[in-house]
Amino acid sequence: MPESRRHFGRRVDKALDDPDLQRALTSGLTGIRGRRDLAFESFDFGKGQAELKKRRLANLDRLPELIEQFTERLEAAGGVVHYAKDAAEARDIIGQICWNADTANRSSGAPRGSARRMVVTKVKSMASEELELNPYLEALGMEVVETDLGERMVQLTHTRPSHLIAPAIHLTKEDAAAVFGTDATIEAIQRHARESLRQKFIEATVGISGANMAIAETGTIVLVTNEGNADLTTTLPPVHIAVFGIDKVVASLDDAVAVLRMLPRSGTGQVMTSYVNWITGPSRSADIEQSLTIGVHGPREMHCVILDNGREEMRADPIFRDALTCIRCGACSNACPPFMAVGGHQFGYIYNGPIGLVLTPFHHGIDKADLPNTLCTQCNACQEVCPVDIPLPRQILEHRRSGRKSLRKKALLGVWKHPDLADGLLRAAAPFSGLVPGAPRIARVPFRDLAGSEQGRGDQPLTIFASCMVDRMLPAAAVALRQIADTAGYRLEFPKGQWCCGLIAANAGDFPGGADLHNQLAETLRNSKGPIVTPSASCFGAFTIDAPDWGAAVDETLRSRFRDSTRFALELLDGRPELIRADGKGLKIAYHDSCQSLRQLGLKAEPRRLLELAGYEVVEIPDIANCCGFGGTFSLDWPRVADRLARWKLDAIAKTGCTVVASDNPGCLIHIAKAARDRHINLRVAHVLELVAEHLDTRAGRVTPC
Ligand code: SF4
Repeated sequence: MPESRRHFGRRVDKALDDPDLQRALTSGLTGIRGRRDLAFESFDFGKGQAELKKRRLANLDRLPELIEQFTERLEAAGGVVHYAKDAAEARDIIGQICWNADTANRSSGAPRGSARRMVVTKVKSMASEELELNPYLEALGMEVVETDLGERMVQLTHTRPSHLIAPAIHLTKEDAAAVFGTDATIEAIQRHARESLRQKFIEATVGISGANMAIAETGTIVLVTNEGNADLTTTLPPVHIAVFGIDKVVASLDDAVAVLRMLPRSGTGQVMTSYVNWITGPSRSADIEQSLTIGVHGPREMHCVILDNGREEMRADPIFRDALTCIRCGACSNACPPFMAVGGHQFGYIYNGPIGLVLTPFHHGIDKADLPNTLCTQCNACQEVCPVDIPLPRQILEHRRSGRKSLRKKALLGVWKHPDLADGLLRAAAPFSGLVPGAPRIARVPFRDLAGSEQGRGDQPLTIFASCMVDRMLPAAAVALRQIADTAGYRLEFPKGQWCCGLIAANAGDFPGGADLHNQLAETLRNSKGPIVTPSASCFGAFTIDAPDWGAAVDETLRSRFRDSTRFALELLDGRPELIRADGKGLKIAYHDSCQSLRQLGLKAEPRRLLELAGYEVVEIPDIANCCGFGGTFSLDWPRVADRLARWKLDAIAKTGCTVVASDNPGCLIHIAKAARDRHINLRVAHVLELVAEHLDTRAGRVTPC
C-alpha cells in the first residue's frame, strides 16, 4: 500500500526536528559543495559538461550495439555476461552464480566458507540497492558484508543509503561508534572497520561490485573508489560479479576518461579518487610455459549482470531519455536545498536526491516517488551542477503530473483558476492576513485598484503585467515599475483582465490548468500596446519559456513583446543615467538571486549592475542554501521545510551585515519577508524596482523614451 501523506509528513517533520541529522547534513553537504567548486578551478566545468553530455548521448543512441560489443569483448577475455530485464531476474541470476560458487568451493575442499555460512562481500553499488539484493541473498542463507565504511554503517543500522555516494551522510560518528561498539572517534571507528572486515575479505566466496562504466571497446568495467575495499572485494574471492544498468555502457576508453574527468570533481570534489580499477575478465596468467591459466591470484570467474529494469522505457521516452546519461556523482543532491533540510531518506526512495525522484518511478513505481517529488522546489540548482546537464527539474515536474496532490493544493488551484472567485476571496482575506502568524500578507489595496487603465503622458506605449502575486501581495513593485516607466516618458497601460501566468498550477503538476491560465492571460494582453514588462522574473520565464511545455497556445508576437523588469530598467538607466539622482549613493544591499532569474533567465550581472547604476552597493550573500524556499505551491505543501530554507537564507543575509535585501522575484520577497517577520528580524525586503524608483530624479522625467 502506498505511504500516506500524513505518515510521510511525520517523517519529514522528524527529520527537521533531529538536530544530529541537521548537523550532519548541513556540514556534510556545504563541505562537499565547497570542495566541488575548488576542484573545478583546475578544469573548465562548462567545457567538460558539454563534452561529456555529447559523448553520453551518443552512447545512448548506440546502446544495443554497444552492449553487444561489450559482451563479445568481455567473453573473449573469459568473462560471462548476463542480461536481466528486471530486478527479479537479476536477483535470480546473481543468486544462482553465488550458489554455484559455494557448491564449487565446497567440492574443491577449499576451507573458506565451508564450515560457516557462505560469505559475500560487496562494494557500494546503487544497482544492488535497486535490486534489494542483500535481503534476497541473506534469505538464501548467505552472509552479506558491505565493505565500504559508510555502507557498512548503513547495513549495521538496518537503514538505506541516504546519498548516492555518501551513503551514511545522515549518521554522525556517535552513531557509527554505537553500531561498531567503539569510542566515538574517527580513528577508533576506522580501526574497528579495518580489523573486522579483513577476515571477511579473505573468507568471501563471491565479491559483488557495481560499475561506474562498462567499456564496449575493450570489455572492461571501471570502478571509481577511495577506500581500497573495491580492490579487495573484486580480487580476493574466487568469483566476482559486477551488476550495473545498461546505461553504464560507454563506447570507448576516451568516453571513460571523459567520465573520470567529471565524476570525482562533481561528486566528492576530488580531482581523482584514490583508486580506479579497470577490470577485463577474470585473473589470468601465461607465465607457466606460456599456457593460459585462469584464476591466479584473483577471481577464476568474472560475471557481469547488465540490468534493464525500466531503463529501456526511459530510453524510449523523449522527456526522460537524458536521465540515462547520469554518472551517479550525487552533485544534484549536494546542491539541492530541500535535500539538505530533510535528507535522502525522505527526498527519494532507494535512489534519492533529484535524480532519485526521476529514476524511482521507472525502477520502483510512481507511488514510491510521488510524495518525495513534492519536496522539490523547482529551483534548478541540481541541473546547474549536473556534469551532464540533465533537465532534472523538468523531469521531476513531469512525474509530478501523475502523482497524488494534497487537498490544500487542489483547493488553491481550484480557486486560482477562477479569477473572479480568487479576487473576492483575496479581498475578503486581506484585512486579516496580517493577523495570521506565518501567513503572507495580502495587500488591502491591490495594484489593479491603483492602476488606471492608461497612464502617463509619453508617446511610447508600455503595458504592465503585474503578475497575480505582485498585484495582490507586493503592489509596491508594480507601483515602482510604473514610476520608472512614467519618469522615462512611457504611456502606461494595465489591462485589468490580467491575472496569473499559469506557473502556480504548472508547478503543482497541473499542466492543463497552467495552459488555461496562460491562454487567458494571452487573450487579455493581446490587444495591449508596446513592450509588456513584468516585475516577476519567474512569470516572465513561465510565459516566454515554460508555457509551450504545458500545452499552452504559443503566440510568438506576444511572446516577443514580453520583457523582464530587470533588463528593461537596466537598459533604461544604461542609456539615460540622468534618470537617477546623484545624491542617494552608497546604501549597501544584499542581493538575493531568485532561482528562476539566475538559472533560467541567466540574470546574474544585470540586477547587480542595475542596483549599482541606481546608486547602491551590492553585497554578495554567502552560500548556505541556494533557494529561499518559496517554490510556488511548495511553501504551501511543506511550510516547515520552506521555513527552514528561509532561515538559512536569513542567516546568510545576516552575514552580509546589510539591513536591506533585494530581489526581482515577488515570491522570494514575500517568503523572505514573512520569515523575517516571524523572527522579529529588522530587515527591509524590497523589489529591485522599489530601490531604483527611490533614487529616480523626477526632474529628469517624462521625456519621450529613445
Ligand atoms: S543527475 Fe547529474 S548531478 Fe545528479 S547524480 Fe546524475 S550526473 Fe550527478
